[in-house]
Formats: sequence, structure tokens, C-alpha cells
Amino acid sequence: MTATPMVKAEGVHKSFGAVQVLKGIDLEVAPREVFCLIGPSGSGKSTFLRCINHLEKINGGRLYVDGELVGYRQQGNKLYELKDREVAAQRRDIGMVFQRFNLFPHMTAVENVMEAPVQVKRETKSVARERALKLLDRVGLADKAGNYPSQLSGGQQQRVAIARALAMEPKLMLFDEPTSALDPELVGDVLDVMRDLAEEGMTMVVVTHEMGFAREVGDSLVFMDNGVVVESGDPREVLTNPQHERTKSFLSKVL
Ligand code: ADP
Ligand code: MG
Repeated sequence: MTATPMVKAEGVHKSFGAVQVLKGIDLEVAPREVFCLIGPSGSGKSTFLRCINHLEKINGGRLYVDGELVGYRQQGNKLYELKDREVAAQRRDIGMVFQRFNLFPHMTAVENVMEAPVQVKRETKSVARERALKLLDRVGLADKAGNYPSQLSGGQQQRVAIARALAMEPKLMLFDEPTSALDPELVGDVLDVMRDLAEEGMTMVVVTHEMGFAREVGDSLVFMDNGVVVESGDPREVLTNPQHERTKSFLSKVL
């Protein structure tokens, strides 16, 4: 028997008005897997992550996280939209890190990391602070706990953002081009944190242009183009021996 997939997409469709962005995505992410998603700009990568995290609603197909339908309950053949409270409960288990770090500018690093556990989980400040300090230590920022975002580099802000997502103890982490907005010399520290997280067994879906990371850390890789999965498999296989013209052409531009 295989474990319940952490993410399962079956024929997922998403349109914005008349524009079809996801045209039937099928994929599975196993627990503890590092699942990399690559593809040209506009292919639907961010939209797919946003659907997993309830930031967009799908128009067709089925999307499951850890065996639960995202945003819906099924009774017989009918789907019922979940109530806000139930959606919030599903979202709580998913951490997301964006290209732009989106830290609260008026809060220090440690306050940023404490915020959700205190506000959403009603944790006491002392418990939340203790965990936040541990998490900041884990991302290499123990000495920056009292700094405001403006007093941190982009790479440090992104590591605070990762700690902030981890503070909710998610079972799944989504990364949307987490290093794309960083100066090149700051990319490595963020990738190292993600690598550690992978080694600790976190399930991660990572949209990235860092092919080195995908090759070394990824367990699976999907190449998406124009709203469909063109090719998928072991990252080392797909990156060295792509089977489809579109994959070859994309890789020749980014590698
Ligand atoms: P990627 O992350 O692969 O670059 P996106 O998922 O951001 O791609 O976007 C895929 C397509 O969906 C693009 O053509 C984009 O313009 C369109 N799109 C994304 N979000 C919206 C939206 N809220 N309204 C209309 N179109 C959107
Ligand atoms: Mg994107």
C-alpha cells in the first residue's frame, strides 16, 4: 500500500474569464518529497500553487491535499464549498513562500515569525516567541531576531519568511520562485535553508529556475508549458535527457 499523496491533482483546470491557464493538470506529490516545478513565464506555475493554497479556486478537476479535497466537500456526486472556517483550517497546514518576501515592515524578525501562531492558533506570546527564536536560529538568523525587515538583506528577509511559514508547523511547504528576486550572492543561503528542510523530511513543492537545486535536491520534476504538464520524472533524467522539444528548448535557454 502506498501512502496518501500529499498533493494530488486530477485534471485540474483554472480559467480567468475566457483565458484558460491550467488545462488539465495531473500530478502527485508523495509525503516527504521535494517536487520541483519548472516552465516558462506564464505557463501557470504560480496559479497552480495558488490553487493548492486556496488563493485561487479551480474550475474543473479535483485537487487534494493529504487526501482532502481542497476547498470542497464531496457528498455523493455533489461538491459543496467549504465554509470559511474549514478553508482556514486547510490553509493552516500549508506554508507558502513567495518571490517577494511580504514581511510585515513594522514588526521585527521574531515578531513576524510569532504573528500567525499568536493570531491564528491563539498561542501565548512566550510559547510563540520561543519557537520563533528556534526557527530563526535554524535559518541562520539567531542574531537578527530584533531587526526590522528594512535592516535585513533580501536573502535574510526571505529566510525570515521561511521561518514564518514554518512557525505554523505546516505539513506542506510551497515555494514560488523564492530566490528569483535576490541578488545572486544571496541565493545560496536561501537554497541551503531549503535543502536542510528537505533533508528533515518536509514535503515541498518548489517553483524554481535554480536547475542545480532541482537536480541535487529534487525527487521529482515537472516541466509545465501553456497550462499542461509536458514532461515529468526524476530531475536528473529530465534535465539531462529531456524527451520533448518544448522541454529541450526551455532548458537550452535556462541551463
Ligand atoms: P507562471 O507562474 O508560470 O509565470 P502564472 O500562473 O503566474 O504563470 O500565470 C499564468 C497565466 O495566467 C498568465 O497568462 C497570467 O497572465 C494569467 N493570470 C494569472 N493570474 C491571473 C489573474 N488573477 N487574472 C487574469 N489572468 C491571470
Ligand atoms: Mg510565477
